[in-house]
Amino acid sequence: MSISLIPMRDELNVRPGRLFIGGSWRDWDGERFDQIHPATNEVMTSFPEAGRRGVDEAVAAARRAFDEGPWPHMRAQDRKRLLQPIVERFYAAEREIAQLQTLDNGIPFTFSRNSRVSAKAAADIFDHYLGWIDKINGETYPQFSSASNMQYMTFREPVGVVAAILPWNGPVLTFALKVAPALACGCTVVVKPSEYTNLAVMRLAEIIAESDLPPGVFNIVTGAAEAGTALSSHQGVDKVTFTGSPVVGEKITIASAPSMKRLSLELGGKSAALVFPDTQSVAAAATTLMGLCSTFLSGQVCSTPTRAVVHRSIMDEFLHHAAEQVKKVRFGDPFDPATTSAPIISRRQRAKILGYIETGKREGAELMFGGGTPGGELANGNWIDPVLFANVRNDMTIAREEIFGPVLSVIPFDTEEEAIRIANDSEYGLAGCVYTANVNRAFRVARAMRSGSIGVNGYASIPNAPMGGVKRSGVGREGGWPTIEAFTELKTVNFNLDG
Ligand code: NAD
Repeated sequence: MSISLIPMRDELNVRPGRLFIGGSWRDWDGERFDQIHPATNEVMTSFPEAGRRGVDEAVAAARRAFDEGPWPHMRAQDRKRLLQPIVERFYAAEREIAQLQTLDNGIPFTFSRNSRVSAKAAADIFDHYLGWIDKINGETYPQFSSASNMQYMTFREPVGVVAAILPWNGPVLTFALKVAPALACGCTVVVKPSEYTNLAVMRLAEIIAESDLPPGVFNIVTGAAEAGTALSSHQGVDKVTFTGSPVVGEKITIASAPSMKRLSLELGGKSAALVFPDTQSVAAAATTLMGLCSTFLSGQVCSTPTRAVVHRSIMDEFLHHAAEQVKKVRFGDPFDPATTSAPIISRRQRAKILGYIETGKREGAELMFGGGTPGGELANGNWIDPVLFANVRNDMTIAREEIFGPVLSVIPFDTEEEAIRIANDSEYGLAGCVYTANVNRAFRVARAMRSGSIGVNGYASIPNAPMGGVKRSGVGREGGWPTIEAFTELKTVNFNLDG
């Protein structure tokens, strides 16, 4: 018998979605779309396709709340007091939000509840940004010349109406990474979740809707590319904060150019992990790297090092441990604690990944294992057995393009210089890793790699340290003070002291 998520859907009382605009929930009289679960291809419910009309209404509400409402000018402690109960309610509802996230994208419930994409992590991110509210300060400048007697100072003011466009793979995490700093800085927001994953984000929205935020400060619309385009080209939007693919990032950049919107773009990656022979444990490196490509979101994570650049002298040992790791992978009902891995988000994406696997074989990479599509009770889901390609050259398609699936490409190297050259020979630069027990090498290589962040002997991002990409991996950083800068504009004011 096939897995079914209908009983869980009914237990969680999932209802058709609505829009939240200007402080009230709106039923939608226009088109709707179905949200399909990737583990079973069953319909979870439907959501409004907001399109340009819904976006116009939401942006108008956010604009009014910004231009005429109290939110942007509110005293720090008052703004914090209004946001604090939301954080507490996120914590209180964390289990239900985690369940809904698993019902969204099929991430195993254990990870949905306990990892860095959990509702607890999202609440922590809100908590972090609430801490900045009374520290968003400007600077004063010394007098420059005797020609005038002016005192100069800067103020950080909210950037305005923010459009937050979310991906499907970490809906709860990315919601928090965008909405929390926007609200903390005094901006008003229109959120658009991915068309694949609306359930958990809608629950977060319900909690915000029940708070005492002034109407129009927070709005949410659902829909696909049309709604995204409407947001990123809208004259009433001052800033777009986006996490998603580089192709869409490019479209947003072009659509937003006429009104010179501020942009934060967290895009894709093709990160490299360099594994040197002096690493403390080849087994640990291989298990981690293969684990990132085969468990959790099954390699559908932007920062996953999908190129393992491994010294030739430890290659056999590396491949052996990677193969051992894959034996621990279990597909199945995402609510079963034994399930280790998520399905591929859609049939279309699964076909695309299978296409990459064929291209890898055709271009001469050595398929060590994986690439099957399980049948039986899994036949209705979008599963792919995790893949390892050995003897990959960096000019092969599978080493150059973001596959966004359970595929690890292993590239051999002989010298440190060659390893760095391979790592940097990519149009991406999001994250990277270096595995070595030699401290000098660790620093040397970490500094030489062109990437927004680097992990030494392991990689993880945290919300209070900046994360983001260079090259096609994005623009700007999320995490800590750089985010506050990205959600505020500097205003310089001078006082004529003789006036
Ligand atoms: P996607 O680009 O397909 O979609 C992201 C969002 O953009 C969705 O809400 C979608 O509806 C919207 N959209 C689609 N077309 C649009 C358009 N023309 N204009 C405006 N919006 C539009 O990405 P995805 O499949 O949801 O997510 C996977 C991608 O996200 C991968 O490339 C991954 O690397 C990247 N990602 C990056 C980070 C990071 O922090 N750098 C984190 C997670 C995911």
